[in-house]
Amino acid sequence: MLLAALSSATAVAQRPIDVTHYDARVVPDLAAKTVSGSVVVTLRVDVPALAALELDTGALTIDAVRLRSASLAHSVADKKLHITLPRPARAGDTFTITIDYHGAPKFGLEFRPDRSEIYTIFSTSQWMPAIDAPGDRASLDLRVTLPAGLAAVGNGRLVSRTRTGDGRETLHWRQRRPLPSYLYGFAAGRYREVREQRGGISLRHLATSFDEKQLQQIFADTSDMLRFFARRAGVRYPDERYTQALVAQTIGQELGGFALMSEDYGREVLDDARASGLIAHEIAHQWWGNGVTCDDWGHFWLNEGFANYMTAAYFEQRYGRDEYDRRIERWRKRVDELKAAGKDHALVYAQWNKPTADDRAVVYQKGAYVLHLLRERVGDAAFWKGIRGYTRKHFGKAVTTVDFQRAMERASGEDLDDFFARWVYAASH
Ligand SMILES: [Zn+2]
Repeated sequence: MLLAALSSATAVAQRPIDVTHYDARVVPDLAAKTVSGSVVVTLRVDVPALAALELDTGALTIDAVRLRSASLAHSVADKKLHITLPRPARAGDTFTITIDYHGAPKFGLEFRPDRSEIYTIFSTSQWMPAIDAPGDRASLDLRVTLPAGLAAVGNGRLVSRTRTGDGRETLHWRQRRPLPSYLYGFAAGRYREVREQRGGISLRHLATSFDEKQLQQIFADTSDMLRFFARRAGVRYPDERYTQALVAQTIGQELGGFALMSEDYGREVLDDARASGLIAHEIAHQWWGNGVTCDDWGHFWLNEGFANYMTAAYFEQRYGRDEYDRRIERWRKRVDELKAAGKDHALVYAQWNKPTADDRAVVYQKGAYVLHLLRERVGDAAFWKGIRGYTRKHFGKAVTTVDFQRAMERASGEDLDDFFARWVYAASH
């Protein structure tokens, strides 16, 4: 009963609008560390009547909002752009709104003029107004104007590179498959570029500080990882290309069709091939996170616990059971520490606004540990069958934990209410 109540409270949410496409023009100024731009947002109304709408807009300054050529009344408060429509729109209406903006983002966009480098760090709404909610997917045309001649990566396919006549060029990427906006981004710099064609996927490795041989060594397991996760997911890798770039500094991040990691991390992998866990983690996100996405951050463990767990599963097949067990043991210890400190809580966690290190440990490490416990509970065959069923059914969609529980119950033929009540919806005890 408890779970039934929770289930209905945590199903995938209906939102007032669904953005279907962003057409963005972004012009960063590397030296000044500022950005200006314009984004055309195509959206559909999903409620009976809509008088106003809201987009996330970080600390950007909004210069104008237009519906066709008409200016729209708007205001910004609490990092949200509130737009009033001239008259209420009705369910099913689709229209486009154009937003002009500028700003000097403190987050979300990393300017490194010393290295002629620029890259995004999550938080898309810090450099382009957008819906942050991970449950809203849209396709994207992204045009970024940069100093000419840089190597670069963005979402989807590079459609064109056009000189602007002032020493700059505009790179236009098109991402057709709809993605949540937090997976939008780009990186550009004076990168060396290594290309490989493996298993029908074009791989690119980009970095400033490594030679070709080193890049090949750092990313040597990429295609093996892609193959492994595709098999575990029961879903092919959804893109024609996968790019990895080692940028000046980042904690490691997955984006649609590519990943950014730091140069320091690249050095670690050169020293020890088994440091490739982060490479695997970001690749796993292309299925769990990017493909099957938590509907809101309260179910973030479905992204991060999964990416961590799948990394352990990859290491199990790559290096043997000991590597897997070592990871499980680390997570188990962390969960014990959380419990001892009174910091443990449910995996499904509504207050994911300002997460502490302990909150992150719950989502990333306890989340992965609970997947291990679930595999022990239902057995290998049912576990992987359930993972495949869940991933296939929800690929390209938003999910909540209820969707995962149902898939595992279908695959195992077991009622898992007790397991989920104990490990997912409550602090462990
Ligand atoms: Zn992750």
